[in-house]
Amino acid sequence: MNTDMTDEQVVALARSEAAKARAGAKSLSRRSVATRVAFIRTLREVIVRRREEIIDRIQQETGKSRSDALVSEIFGALDVLAWIEKFAPKHLAPQKVHTSIVLMGKKSETWCEPLGTILVISPWNYPFYQAIAPIALAVACGNTVLYKPSEWTPLSGLIEDLLAAAQFAPNWVRVVYGDGRVGAALIDTKPEKIMFTGSTRTGKVILQRAAEHMIPVELELGGKDAMIVFEDADIGRAAAGAAWGGLTCTGQSCTSVERVYVHERVYDRFREALVAIATAIKQETDRDGDADIGAMTTDFQVKIVREHVEDAKAQGAQQLTGTEWNGQSRLIPPIVLDDVRDDMQVARAETFGPVLPLLRFSNEEDVVRRANDSEFGLTASVWSKDLVRARRVAAALDVGGVSINNVMATEANPALPFGGVKNSGFGRYKGALGLHAFSNVKSVLIDKDSGKIEANWFPYTRRKYELFTDMTVNYFSGGPAAFVRFLRAALELESYANKAGKNGR
Ligand code: NAD
Repeated sequence: MNTDMTDEQVVALARSEAAKARAGAKSLSRRSVATRVAFIRTLREVIVRRREEIIDRIQQETGKSRSDALVSEIFGALDVLAWIEKFAPKHLAPQKVHTSIVLMGKKSETWCEPLGTILVISPWNYPFYQAIAPIALAVACGNTVLYKPSEWTPLSGLIEDLLAAAQFAPNWVRVVYGDGRVGAALIDTKPEKIMFTGSTRTGKVILQRAAEHMIPVELELGGKDAMIVFEDADIGRAAAGAAWGGLTCTGQSCTSVERVYVHERVYDRFREALVAIATAIKQETDRDGDADIGAMTTDFQVKIVREHVEDAKAQGAQQLTGTEWNGQSRLIPPIVLDDVRDDMQVARAETFGPVLPLLRFSNEEDVVRRANDSEFGLTASVWSKDLVRARRVAAALDVGGVSINNVMATEANPALPFGGVKNSGFGRYKGALGLHAFSNVKSVLIDKDSGKIEANWFPYTRRKYELFTDMTVNYFSGGPAAFVRFLRAALELESYANKAGKNGR
């Protein structure tokens, strides 16, 4: 875990790894997008081939169920790689953009160029996915990567091994192990960009440190995702969705369902269906894929879950399932809480465990206000047969993504940008916006070389001022007559400017 390193050793490690990543930048950035994508394809093939071994490692370090590891980490990562292969060449290719008539004769383009070295700092809840997805996106854009995994789930040696098997040069991606001190020291090596996924608390610290060096940061932070179930929703499907959304990865997902708002008319039916599913959940860090959820990954998160549940119960909430839990074991069973109020800790702070707090609502306006009354704004879900209403509510929610009649589904599509608002962070990764986040999107305007000077270049004269006024008024007034007047003024201005340019004033 490298926590025993001295401060000097931490700084030396960060500098030496950063120097290697910088040294690799040239060999990677001069390769075409097609060549980079070919490496991504090979990586995909390697992961598919070695999936069982990877799942073993994920399970050893996280305690997840085998199916959780396969579905969320392996499939999720492969899906991002497949999207990159198919779409990165299109999104990273030079794009022609519109050039207005006032810039007649010129052409405008955007070029996506590598930024240099990207520092990726990741959390412990999806140690494989949170390594592969950002690394692949950054490399596809031509950047080298300094990757710092969480000290709790380092998967030591695995990522390097897979990248080497996919023929990545050793200096393209440097995996740097250690705790927050190593992360901080890596920031001080001044990478061109930081992609941070983790808690809001650490996100703020990173943002401050990055500001010292003027490094742009993408922040993917915590959440307190609301699920809103209207009275016309299919209750069986919604309850099954709540169970999966709240319990997958034992509730340790940034986009876990953490608040379930159910319309009062269907509340009792929904609660009954959810309790039935929660009680039937099979929990084990299994070997054969036959368990639904596994264990919690860390003891400190177990403590947070215990505190939230105890606080809710002390304030009048009823624990409907999981009462057999001793408050210590990492195998926290699904906990459905009834009679939860908005001001309870379990409805406000990120629990990050297998807890489903149920909250009753009576009308749309009220539930939107309550869902938005949160420091977080990552994702949410809205459940209703009435798609007009579902879209209206989705539009009213202060979050980065909304699934309608589904759960945790926006992040399942690599074509959709992912990110939050408020204390859930900012920036977007994945999708075309995600590729642009790892690129220097360079604007280029191409003009012909000629003896002419531009109308807006010096010298400024009284006559030019009159013509510019004429042009401005007519250009921005609209209508065919104004457009003709604009053209006349523009042409005269151009010939006058050229004469004035040659003759001085
Ligand atoms: P964390 O903030 O404790 O740690 C995240 C990473 O930051 C680790 O690698 C850690 O070593 C590093 N770090 C800690 N202090 C640092 C410092 N001062 N400078 C640089 N690096 C430092 O988060 P965690 O407990 O590992 O992860 C859980 C959190 O991550 C939850 O809040 C969860 O919601 C969030 N998360 C968000 C997303 C998302 O995409 N929005 C995805 C997964 C997890």
